[in-house]
Amino acid sequence: MADYLYIHVPFCARKCIYCDFFSVPFDKERAVRYTEALCRELGLKKALAGPLKSVYIGGGTPGLLDRGSLTNLFDALKEHYDFSASPEITMEANPGSSAAETSILLAELGINRLSIGMQSFNDNELKTLGRVHCSAEAVSAYEAASAAGIRNISVDLIYGIPGQTLSSWRKSLSEAVKLSPSHISTYELTPEKNTPLMGSIEAGELMMPKEGLIIEMYYAALDYLGSKGYRHYEISNFALPGRESIHNLNYWDRGEYIGAGAGAHSFTGRRRAYNTTDLARYVDDLAKDKIPEEKSVVVTDKEAVEEYIFLGLRTLMGISIAKAGDLGIDIARAAAGLSEQGFVETDNGFVKLTRKGLIVSNTVMVKLMEALGL
Ligand code: SF4
Repeated sequence: MADYLYIHVPFCARKCIYCDFFSVPFDKERAVRYTEALCRELGLKKALAGPLKSVYIGGGTPGLLDRGSLTNLFDALKEHYDFSASPEITMEANPGSSAAETSILLAELGINRLSIGMQSFNDNELKTLGRVHCSAEAVSAYEAASAAGIRNISVDLIYGIPGQTLSSWRKSLSEAVKLSPSHISTYELTPEKNTPLMGSIEAGELMMPKEGLIIEMYYAALDYLGSKGYRHYEISNFALPGRESIHNLNYWDRGEYIGAGAGAHSFTGRRRAYNTTDLARYVDDLAKDKIPEEKSVVVTDKEAVEEYIFLGLRTLMGISIAKAGDLGIDIARAAAGLSEQGFVETDNGFVKLTRKGLIVSNTVMVKLMEALGL
């Protein structure tokens, strides 16, 4: 039984230049048909779920769905799933799609956590990213959500934007903190293959900041957010005490979850299943009460260990030496070399990244896997 549910809504007003998530241009009628199919899928998967601890509606931009579709979605959720455990119910929101009336509707539907993609408080940087909103709209979206009674709000920020300076990054951090969100995520901009961002870099139209500056930006976030009471609990995530994302903690702990929606994944038992990203097929399959799966794999013991290390090391708590031992690995011994070099440390029965290791976490993970012979 999985107590965590992810729902994917793949529509966006416009594609941001750096985005390689599964999202398509918003179309009102298509979105209505999609939501009907989504409600069917939720019904078909209800037997996999226990009392929910978290529902996460991501995208895309789920706030683009109209009132009727959002209401139908929540009716289906409440009809088929057990909400007796008072789950965290998060929706991703982009400024512009969560105006005052949308926020009121979201609060009425039971959404108790909003994750707002603010990204920057500098309008030129937002323009560079291809975002549809300006910083004033982002602040309005935050205030509207807060006024609607949603108290648990997370803010996403991006660093490493072409043209961004250390001082503009510091300003974005301080403006975000002024809003008093319960949670802040800071993501490094990574140019992905086949995105317009990568094309512009290759064409010499945009230049990524130098690596040294990106490192300074990362440490600036660690130090500033730490000084303001935000606990750094995962490589990219900071929270006020008790406001860590319940949903994401389950991912990092390799917990089971159900995914619904085109392109969504599920992890139940040892099985990882992937829904189709073909929207027409998604809707057609569900019209025949068929789960629109593209493929599924059974996770091997070796893959389970790799996932456990990769995900565990992302958290600031680190990897439990005892739990790793249950999986047949001596993590403390494997980490000895990296520990001597100052990239990891042992703390209270856990192996975790140091401040020096955090900035090169991918390399540290690869070295740890090698040391374990994986
Ligand atoms: S809003 Fe999010 S999902 Fe949509 S295009 Fe931009 S980054 Fe991608």
